[in-house]
Order: sequence, then C-alpha cells, then structure tokens
Amino acid sequence: MKVAIVKERRAHERRVAATPDTVKQMIALGLGVSVETGAGAEAGFLDAAYEAAGAGIAADEAAALGDADLVLKVQRPVDGEIGKLKRGAVLIGLLAPTQNKADVDAYAQAGVNAFALELVPRITRAQTMDVLSSQANLAGYKSVIDAAGEFGRAFPMMMTAAGTIKAARVLIMGAGVAGLQAIATARRLGAIVSATDVRAAAKEQVESLGATFITVDQEAAKSAETAGGYAREMGEDYQRRQREKVTEALKRTDIVICTALIPGRKAPILLTADMVAAMAPGSVVVDLAVEAGGNVEGSQAGSTVTTANGVRIVGHQNMPSRIAVDASMLYARNVMAFLHLLFDQEKQFRVDRSDEIIKATLLTMDGAIVNPALLPAAVPAAAS
Ligand code: NAD
Repeated sequence: MKVAIVKERRAHERRVAATPDTVKQMIALGLGVSVETGAGAEAGFLDAAYEAAGAGIAADEAAALGDADLVLKVQRPVDGEIGKLKRGAVLIGLLAPTQNKADVDAYAQAGVNAFALELVPRITRAQTMDVLSSQANLAGYKSVIDAAGEFGRAFPMMMTAAGTIKAARVLIMGAGVAGLQAIATARRLGAIVSATDVRAAAKEQVESLGATFITVDQEAAKSAETAGGYAREMGEDYQRRQREKVTEALKRTDIVICTALIPGRKAPILLTADMVAAMAPGSVVVDLAVEAGGNVEGSQAGSTVTTANGVRIVGHQNMPSRIAVDASMLYARNVMAFLHLLFDQEKQFRVDRSDEIIKATLLTMDGAIVNPALLPAAVPAAAS
C-alpha cells in the first residue's frame, strides 16, 4: 500500500501529518511512502530527512496523491483536493466533519473512506491517538509564551540592586488540557497563577499545579460536567456570578488566558468589554477560544487588538501551528498510533468496524456516510 503526505494548504497551517520518524515506522509496517516536496518545510522537516527515512519525494501534490491508498493530513482538504484522491483511498486528518457536512458528502461521492481524528473517543486505549489533547497541550503552553511576549514586564519576581520587580499575576479561565498546561507554564516562568472552571474536578487539578482555584458555585459545579468529561453551557445566573468573581480577581491580574470551550456550541463569553475596560493598561488577554466565537468581547481572530485603556487582546488563529515542529511531531505520533489500528497482526490493512475507535471516527465507507453522529436522527445507526 502507498501512503501520501502532502503540504497543508489551509491558511495559518504550518504543521505536517508525518515526520521522518513516523515515515520510518510506516515503512516498517510494509507501506510505501510518498511525500510532496516541501510538505514538512514549515515544520522544520526537510525533503532530505524524509528521503533518508525511506520516503520518495513527489514533485507535486497530484503526483503524491494520484496512486495513494492512504492520505495523511492535518487539516481537511481544500477545494479541488478531494478530486485528486483515487476511489477507495483512505483519508485521515482533522476533518471537522460536524462543521463541514458538505465535505462529508464529497468524500462519500468520491468514494473516499475518511476518518476524522477529532472524533477519537477519550478512552484510555485511545490516549496515544488523542490529537485534541496533544494539540491543546501545546496551544496552552504557547498562549503563555505569546502573552509573555506582549507583556511589557517580567513574569518572575526579581530582587535586583536597582529595585524589586513584582511577579506577574496570571488568571487562566478554563482548566482543561490547554488551561492546565498554561497554568504549569506560567508557574514555571515565575508568575502567581489562579484559575477557574465550571467543572468541579478542575479544582483539585488546578491546586495540584500550585495555582489558586476560584470557585464560582460549588453546587452548580457538581452538575457542570457531561458524562464525556466536557463542560455544559451554564445558565445566566451562574454566568453573572462568575463575572462578579472574575471582575474582583481582575483587579489583581496582569494576564488572562481564556481557554473555555463547550463542544458543539459557540464559546462562552467570559470577559465582557466592561471587564476588559477595567483592567490596568499594559495587561494582556489571550483568547484561545477566538476561532470558536471567542471568550472575550472584542477579540478578533488573527489580530491583536489594543483597547482604549491599553489592554492587548491576542487572538491568534491556529495556536498549535505557531509551535509547528512539536505540534507536528506529536500529531504525527497520534496518526501513527491510529494507523496501527488499521493493520492486523499480519500487517494486513483491515477496517474493523466493530472497534469503538474506528466506529467513532469513520465518516464514510464505500461511497456512503456511515458515522452515527452525521446520519439524520431518523435513520437508525444500525441501518448504516
Ligand atoms: P475543552 O477544550 O472542551 O474546554 C476547555 C475547558 O473550558 C474545560 O475544562 C471546560 O470545563 C472549561 N469551560 C467551559 N465552559 C466554561 C466556562 N463558562 N467557564 C469556565 N470554564 C469553562 O476541554 P478539554 O481540554 O478538551 O478537556 C475536557 C475534559 O476531558 C477534561 O475533563 C479533561 O481532563 C478530559 N480529558 C480526558 C482525556 C482522557 O480520558 N483520555 C483526555 C483529554 C481530556
């Protein structure tokens, strides 16, 4: 079987779906690998390194995709890309199927068997394939580094002959994978860190990292988590009380990192324009949720906005791509772990539709949409 790795063509995307290291592992699985020239260049992986790992270098995308049985991508294909895949090819990537249903129809029509990696269930067996965690972790780290770059002051307390510099105070809103890494990073840089989250379980995790937890409503927190471990959308009363607590905390805060997401919904607004307007000049807010509608009123995807009172609101798009080398390395390892699922012990390609990870991620098969999450509710999943 032949694998293709192509250059990512979406805006703000510097990552690549395979590294020379994972290419070696694919070759050990008995696969032939074709890498489009320059596919890894923006993530620091040059053609020569892929070649040394045993891949062939294709002169362009069409040459890499033309006879590929397996196509590995970070982001979903751009217009015209699906047409370059042969019928029966397997496509694996962050395909964002629920937001892009027309793409899923196009995969089915083109006879492409597509797997969406963001649908990997968060079960223990799938941890090595958990792209959401690997990328959110790096996004959390990078958000603090970006904040430090925008901040006109130092993070740690410093006692010098010329005087003492106060430690920066950082507030992390949303203590999931990205938020916990942001806490750890800000602490390592010497900041005094506090954090808040709607889920009760977050308190212990935040405190174990040496940060202070801001509790909004202990009772409400008990029912704020879904069975899958995600947050629920909170009611108006909770949101009002959260704003009151946070407004109080903002008086002592230099930097806010917002990471709060609710699956399938627009991100909740956690900082209103009034709250930002009350912050001290020179403060920095990073809105990691900016692409999901934003946690901060006034944040803009792709821009850094300076408010009238001198607060910088950072709204970078695709945060993992800003740390493309490590993000690609972890993503490629996640993909490799997923690929192993598609090969049996005799190294034969086999899609085991009874496997719960396969079931959750497989979007289309043999020209039909098969994912239960994408089928109209009226059609029983079993009928697929
Ligand atoms: P996420 O990206 O969906 O959301 C980020 C954080 O924002 C979450 O902690 C969420 O509770 C919080 N949030 C949402 N609304 C909020 C609001 N109004 N105010 C404050 N905070 C708000 O979450 P995630 O990082 O993907 O993690 C979700 C859960 O999944 C966590 O419990 C995490 O520990 C768990 N998880 C489990 C596994 C596994 O078992 N393999 C892997 C990764 C994550």
